[in-house]
Amino acid sequence: MVELKDCLALDRADPLSSFQSEFDLPGGLTYLDGNSLGPLPIRARERMHDVVDRQWGKGLIRSWNDEQWIHLPLITGRKIAHIIGAKVNEVVVADSTSVNLFKLLSMALRLNPKRRVIVTESGNFPSDLYIIDGLTGLLERDFEVRRAATGQVEDAIDDSVAVVSVTHVNYRNGSMHDMRGLTNKAHEAGALMLWDLAHSAGSMPLELNAIGVDLAVGCGYKFLNGGPGAPSFLYIAEHLQNQAQQPLTGWLGHANPFEFNERYIPADGIASNLCGTPPILSMAALDAALDVFENVDLNQVRSKCVALGELFLQLIDQQLGEFGFTVICPLEHEHRGSQISISHPQGYAIMKAMIERGVIGDFRSPDILRFGLTPLYQRFEDIWNTVATLRDIMLSGQWQEARFQTRDYVT
Ligand SMILES: *Cc1c(COP(=O)(O)O)cnc(C)c1O
Repeated sequence: MVELKDCLALDRADPLSSFQSEFDLPGGLTYLDGNSLGPLPIRARERMHDVVDRQWGKGLIRSWNDEQWIHLPLITGRKIAHIIGAKVNEVVVADSTSVNLFKLLSMALRLNPKRRVIVTESGNFPSDLYIIDGLTGLLERDFEVRRAATGQVEDAIDDSVAVVSVTHVNYRNGSMHDMRGLTNKAHEAGALMLWDLAHSAGSMPLELNAIGVDLAVGCGYKFLNGGPGAPSFLYIAEHLQNQAQQPLTGWLGHANPFEFNERYIPADGIASNLCGTPPILSMAALDAALDVFENVDLNQVRSKCVALGELFLQLIDQQLGEFGFTVICPLEHEHRGSQISISHPQGYAIMKAMIERGVIGDFRSPDILRFGLTPLYQRFEDIWNTVATLRDIMLSGQWQEARFQTRDYVT
């Protein structure tokens, strides 16, 4: 039996506990949705004040030079490179994850021009699937999109495949691919490997260079805490840079944007993956949020994430047995990312009742309750509170109240 005092003891021994003060989380709230929107880092708020009042308000257009605004996509990209095991010249911050996927998929097809198959996974994040179909719909040659069933991605890879494009950690059930194994498999078949790191960057150590990953995209507003709609990042292994151009050839990817040349000449290296003017306010917030990671040991983050997950599963077993929940995330932590997912036919109403009680997770259609594990600001006590609140809502039947039955637009 796990008791509250065991959770409190784990919190006292937590080597990451000092990072809680980096975030401005409202008191009385238990936040388990940092896999969807990270909380506000104190540094980001301070930076926003400076960027708005001084840099924009007083500096006006001079700040493009004086405050290095124009270089922010590369400056911020360097900080992300450290987090994902990449070289500083391999990452740039721009656009959204969906748009960056479009760019890198297009580039992958140009890098591997004799092949016409894209392998992805059914159950991948919808935008990733839509973008693949949108891109292939645009191309004249016939492309085949292979949506492999879960667990069968490796089997779908053969020597006709140009690129394998999958998400490292599944957004719904939290299952995690073997990044090294699948990358090797793609390479053995002569395919490129494109990872979506939306649910892994910032939540665990990643070794893109050591594994030899070709291409990757990831999200700024989830585990990196960059704020709502924060720009995304893209990674291109150094040896593939300058080999093929991405198709969104906007002026800021030009070698010399301020020559206003009418012919596109790509910038050298990763900068040619920029398109238009960077959203400085959003990017500055992300840039400041990334400074939190400067002193973070991601191995410690992963260890605590595993411990939070094990505690969560143990408490589900102990406290929720009679209520009809099904654990749908992998039970073995080697195969689990940074979330716990459980399903229940009344999942939506239950989650809405939880949120009213100040325990925030989210819901994914049709019946999944999702809880993000974010070791930088979460306590073991939060896991205790979450399961205790769930139990209370089920015991009391509170979820049946009418106001929990109607669906909001954003779940
Ligand atoms: C969150 C998420 C995205 C989001 O894409 P945007 O273009 O930033 O809205 C894409 N892919 C995956 C796997 C995600 O989890």
